[in-house]
Amino acid sequence: MTYDVIVVGGGITGLVTSFYLTLRGRRVLLLEKNSRWGGNIKTYSDNSYIFEEGPQTILANTSAIWDLIRRLNAPVCKADPSSRLRFIYKRGRLIPIPLKPWEFFTSPLVGFKAKVKLLKEFFVKPPQKEDESVAEFTLRHFGEEFLKYFVQPFVSGIYAGEARKLSVRYAFPKLYEMERRYGSLLKAFLKEKRVAPKGELISFAGGLSTLVKLLAERIKEKRLQTEVLSLEKSGNLYRVRTNAGNFYGRKVVLTTPAYVTAKILEKIFPPAKGFENITYPRVAVVLLSFPKVGLRGFGFLTAEGLRILGAIFVSSLFSDRCPPAEDCVSVFLCGETQREVCQRGKEEILKIAKEEIKKVFPRIGEFKFEKVTLWEKSIPQYTLGYEKFYKIEEELRKKEPNLVIAGNFLGGSSLAKCIEKGKKLGETL
Ligand SMILES: Cc1cc2nc3c(=O)[nH]c(=O)nc-3n(C[C@H](O)[C@H](O)[C@H](O)COP(=O)(O)OP(=O)(O)OC[C@H]3O[C@@H](n4cnc5c(N)ncnc54)[C@H](O)[C@@H]3O)c2cc1C
Repeated sequence: MTYDVIVVGGGITGLVTSFYLTLRGRRVLLLEKNSRWGGNIKTYSDNSYIFEEGPQTILANTSAIWDLIRRLNAPVCKADPSSRLRFIYKRGRLIPIPLKPWEFFTSPLVGFKAKVKLLKEFFVKPPQKEDESVAEFTLRHFGEEFLKYFVQPFVSGIYAGEARKLSVRYAFPKLYEMERRYGSLLKAFLKEKRVAPKGELISFAGGLSTLVKLLAERIKEKRLQTEVLSLEKSGNLYRVRTNAGNFYGRKVVLTTPAYVTAKILEKIFPPAKGFENITYPRVAVVLLSFPKVGLRGFGFLTAEGLRILGAIFVSSLFSDRCPPAEDCVSVFLCGETQREVCQRGKEEILKIAKEEIKKVFPRIGEFKFEKVTLWEKSIPQYTLGYEKFYKIEEELRKKEPNLVIAGNFLGGSSLAKCIEKGKKLGETL
């Protein structure tokens, strides 16, 4: 049997791509290695708790997300408006992150010298090189303190990464573009009257897996526990070799991680081996609940003094996630900056998460719920020199126009970006 399109990988990108292809009446086959759909999206739920073990929320900042929600009639939950409130943990306390650019001048987040440097940002010198690290970019614009107390915590929160290693152009393309357009970022922020990105934070009744379930239901031909091993040419078709036999398609979309994509393409396109150099740090997510203390806000990121990257105040965002008498949080550990934590076992990771949360909220009582999830390879790191990976993809596109790489290691890794990419592919392939 021949398919119009074979989609490899049943995470959000593969599901959305297959869904929109199906809407257009294309004959699609979706192949997934694991015994469940969703990839990184993994919701734990029982009678009392709904907890995200991977991504926590979607920043609904594109029309693609709302189009998907409307078509699936998905039960959206918008995060509580207090989620605008975010904190940085610095010197033993939680400091609110300024929401408006001018609030930095009165914030205890950075000292007097950094505030003076902030004013000078209006006259920042242009970059000396095309590909700057996030750290170099920040130092040039705002100085050391901003890097330590603001930018690095954010880089940990978004990528579990290190500002020194990530490329501003590829990891934060909006900032890169803003500088190209306005020169000064402060000018750009003042023009937009905000520092935080636009869009609403959302999830679904029952958690993000509800979206996964609704998508999977709408895709007719799909197989779990089917691991794609390699890809070969067979006339004008692609032969997709799997542990469950061969499948034939006119077009193939790969939504697998970089290191898997490299393997699958080994024979048909050897330069793809380069994708093996894309790094994915380990991340642990610890889910905890405890008697209610009245958490408010989105959560906090650590600047110094804790062995965790930060925590999200789940019960403050969505009221249906744990019993009313409890608060619950998702704690993030390890990443590039705290690698040593993940070298320990799950028990030790849990112990660290509990100890550090107790440091932040000394008055919390006994923990009621605890669960540790370890992501051996979490989020692709858009590091310096990332252009070479786009070049490999470009070369492949020229050689094999019917073979598409759509993994989250190219073009952005947020759920919003994955959905946007999947929709575009599904509507155009
Ligand atoms: C801990 C964590 C927290 C995150 N938090 C957020 C957040 O709060 N907000 C946000 O926007 N983003 C977040 N992200 C990023 C986001 O979750 C991911 O970028 C996104 O889910 C990737 O989706 P995907 O479909 O592209 O890839 P994946 O979810 O990785 O899916 C790829 C699929 O391919 C399958 N596969 C692998 N090999 C094969 C093979 N050989 N054959 C067949 N199938 C195969 C895998 O099993 C998997 O199901 C987070 C990521 C992690 C890990």
